[in-house]
Amino acid sequence: MTPKTTLYMIEERATVEAAKAAFDGEFEKFDDQPTLNGEDAGALLSEVGTLRVRHTGKKSLLAEAKKLIGKVSPEQRGEFGQFVQSVERSIVERLDAAENRLKAAVLEAKTEAERIDVTIPGRRVKRGTLHPITIVRQRIEEIFVSMGYSIEDDREIETDYYNFDALNIPEGHPARESQDTFYTTDGFALRSQTSTVQIRAMERRGVPIRIIAPGKVFRRDTPDMTHVPMFHQIEGLCVDKGITMAHLKGTVTEWLKRLFGEDTVTRFRPSYFPFTEPSAEFDFSCFKCHGTGKLDGERCRPCKGSGWIELGGSGMVHPNVLKACGVDPTVYSGFAFGFGLERMAALMYSIDDIRHLFENDVRFLEQFG
Ligand SMILES: [Zn+2]
Repeated sequence: MTPKTTLYMIEERATVEAAKAAFDGEFEKFDDQPTLNGEDAGALLSEVGTLRVRHTGKKSLLAEAKKLIGKVSPEQRGEFGQFVQSVERSIVERLDAAENRLKAAVLEAKTEAERIDVTIPGRRVKRGTLHPITIVRQRIEEIFVSMGYSIEDDREIETDYYNFDALNIPEGHPARESQDTFYTTDGFALRSQTSTVQIRAMERRGVPIRIIAPGKVFRRDTPDMTHVPMFHQIEGLCVDKGITMAHLKGTVTEWLKRLFGEDTVTRFRPSYFPFTEPSAEFDFSCFKCHGTGKLDGERCRPCKGSGWIELGGSGMVHPNVLKACGVDPTVYSGFAFGFGLERMAALMYSIDDIRHLFENDVRFLEQFG
């Protein structure tokens, strides 16, 4: 019996064989694929798409072969149709299989790339450093806490009463002038000294009392190498029965010794402050030249060759201040002192312009701490 394939025209059959052969020729490399990286798989995937259009699209040999189905004789049509379909099915199946495999390879590569490797060392958070003002303040706080003082903090915006009246600074005193003090539009003052905390603390805690109050103060100064309109002070206050000037001198000398060394000496010069009586400014022997005024044969810079460094003001708390806080000055007495932290920091770190402290330049600030 003659095979059925010979029943229809050899030409039609040749077209289908040609379509199959053309596909086989181009598709061969997809049949045996090694493990692919994501990039190669992506490129091959788009190549499969191109092959699909070329071999199964409207202009493909296969499409041409399908058109022939209608042209063969009705009795040959069924068989020829099945032959075309089986070739088409095999082409489509192989394209689908290759496409699925490549898609899986692309996805796997993507997952691999996004996988978190927990064994890679983490990036360290860069640690900042303390501001020089903070460093100096903390060292001084530690010294006073070890001497039995507590640390007080209070508001920076004050009424005239706390900033001036209670501190025995009368109306008409130059410090009250608006060219020296910042006022809000409501008539409040930005405190011009931390002495306001003395009043607040005595009102709140009563006496006896031993406190230091570090904080910001504000004065209408034009910024230059040694002045800024906002700076920091530390205020000290000790009120008890029988407190004398000797306690003041002893306390100031002791904390300066602890900060700058055992050989540090102090001196007190008579002065005037409205809230203390008597009042004195205090100096200490230069920590660089140890009071000699000379460093390596040259004039010592921090003390300008004098051997002494002027630091702050002090005195015995004025009876009027005690009275303003409801403390009987015939029973209690006390001393107070205050000094600027910027000046301390500038001395300790040899900073020649205190404006650097507030410019927030990291290159400057990271040198400390
Ligand atoms: Zn010196």
